[in-house]
Parts: sequence; structure tokens; C-alpha cells
Amino acid sequence: MTPDSSRNRADLRRDSALQRRFRVRLIEERGHRCEQCGNAEKVEAHHRVPLNQGGTWDLENGQLLCPECHKSTRSFAWKIQRGDGTPTRDVLFEAIAQLVEYGGLTESEATDARNRLRNY
Ligand SMILES: [Zn+2]
Repeated sequence: MTPDSSRNRADLRRDSALQRRFRVRLIEERGHRCEQCGNAEKVEAHHRVPLNQGGTWDLENGQLLCPECHKSTRSFAWKIQRGDGTPTRDVLFEAIAQLVEYGGLTESEATDARNRLRNY
């Protein structure tokens, strides 16, 4: 393991804890419903400006979206690249692998996540 990858894994663990809190804080502030279509069944926390594009965890940068509305924003994952040219989807696949390694996802959840990602 290179020093770089261990730093990335620490960042990833911190980010998934932040992501859970981010969603809870947004729901407390705005209620449990999609800010785009009003669907109240299931909501996910979306960053208006993605973290890898300089976005922050401030609530002003957050938006509660149902999975369908969130999916429409995620098509960006297939288009945008990091500064080093790595496609964002590859970063996401790597993140899934790391979540499995650290017990944040089961293998079947990871398979589901990979399949969803391929469909975006
Ligand atoms: Zn929606």
C-alpha cells in the first residue's frame, strides 16, 4: 500500500461518516422529501457542487433527492473527469471496492452498486 492510497482510504472512511450526517442534517432542516419532485418515500443527500470539484459539506451545498432525481444528476459521473484525467466513474468503482474492504458494504450490496453505476 502506498502512502497515497492509505490517505485516500482514510478520506473515504471520513467521507462516508460525513455523508450519513449530511443526509440527517438536511432531513432535519428540510423534511424527508425530494426537493425536486416531492417524493417522500426515500431521499438521498446530493452535493450540488461535487466534492471532487471543490464542493463542501455545508448544508447550502446539499440537496435531498429521491433515487430517480438523484440518478438524473449522476449521469455526470460518466462525463466529468478529475484533474488528472481519471473518469469519475472509475473513482466511484474504486470507492465501492474500498468500502467492501472496510466492511462498509457487503459483497452483494457492492454488486448492486456496481450494476447501478453501470446503468448511469
Ligand atoms: Zn425526486
